[in-house]
Amino acid sequence: MIVQDIRDYSRRELEELLPPLGEKRAHAAALFKSLHRNGARTIRDLAGVPEKLKDKLSLRYSITPAPVEEKQVSWLDGTIKLLLKFHDGAVAESVVLSAAGRTAACLSSQSGCACGCAFCATARLGLKRSLAPHEILDQFSACLRAAGGRLDSLVFMGMGEPFLNWANVKKSVLLLSDGLGRNFPQSKMTVSTVGIIPVIDELADSPLKINLALSVITADAGQRAALAPMEKKYPLREILKAAGRYCAKTKRLVFLEYILFGGLNDSREDAEKFAGLIRGLPCTVNLIPYNRSGVEDFVPAQPEKAKEFKRTLMARGIRTYLRAEKGSDIGAACGQLAARRSD
Ligand code: SF4
Repeated sequence: MIVQDIRDYSRRELEELLPPLGEKRAHAAALFKSLHRNGARTIRDLAGVPEKLKDKLSLRYSITPAPVEEKQVSWLDGTIKLLLKFHDGAVAESVVLSAAGRTAACLSSQSGCACGCAFCATARLGLKRSLAPHEILDQFSACLRAAGGRLDSLVFMGMGEPFLNWANVKKSVLLLSDGLGRNFPQSKMTVSTVGIIPVIDELADSPLKINLALSVITADAGQRAALAPMEKKYPLREILKAAGRYCAKTKRLVFLEYILFGGLNDSREDAEKFAGLIRGLPCTVNLIPYNRSGVEDFVPAQPEKAKEFKRTLMARGIRTYLRAEKGSDIGAACGQLAARRSD
């Protein structure tokens, strides 16, 4: 029998759960705080919770923190990659990246991924399963420890498509941002999607304050369909319309991630086509030179081509950043997460 991890419950859900156990709702605050701020690792460790309640909880719920199976540190730039193993053997990788005195954690939402993007190492694992909220929180805690106790931002950009596990990703956002827990600001969190339109619309209508990033990948529809099969279900043109609705409703801009493949989508004409496609959309573009992931068909864009691509977009008034490759020597860069052991 699988016993539910009690960290999956929001504060309000804990309040609902206590009266049927013959306990006061008022214990929910201390319970939540001990679980999420103090990081209790067993039911018996719960601080500020009556022993009688601990007895009842331990019959029905568990706390199952996942161990970090492997930690790799890039000798190139200090990027840290962590491999976590969950109770059933499923694994997920998380990455800690530092630049200009700021540290970000990149979390996985699924073990593997079903989206099948042709350039992505995670895609070759297939989907093992979606992660529960507490398994996302375990990644956060492991990244926080690895970062020395301070994280400035979070991105859901690791293994998996967060919007295909939206209920659990949303729950983890709410748990992490709760003032009695980690109190991590939603405005410092970004969720990245290949373009699951119904969830983009749901996010636009929700009170969540998290940022939205779209994996544009490339501007040409035929090319995108070959690189990211999800294009056939959710075409980029429709995704960008949904992004427009999101921007109008939330008054936030959207981040667009364009992957620069050498000789494929890195020409001036490609940049102009992309600029035309996103004209008028409140956005920031991140250009990500393709990171080798063992797919021999692709090569990264040459640095000069990447800079020219950026200049072309900037000349059209589009705020554009050219992302530096991070952690490529340990397979931690974008598109490289494959849960491979180093030994
Ligand atoms: S790029 Fe993202 S959505 Fe595509 S297969 Fe990889 S993890 Fe999944």
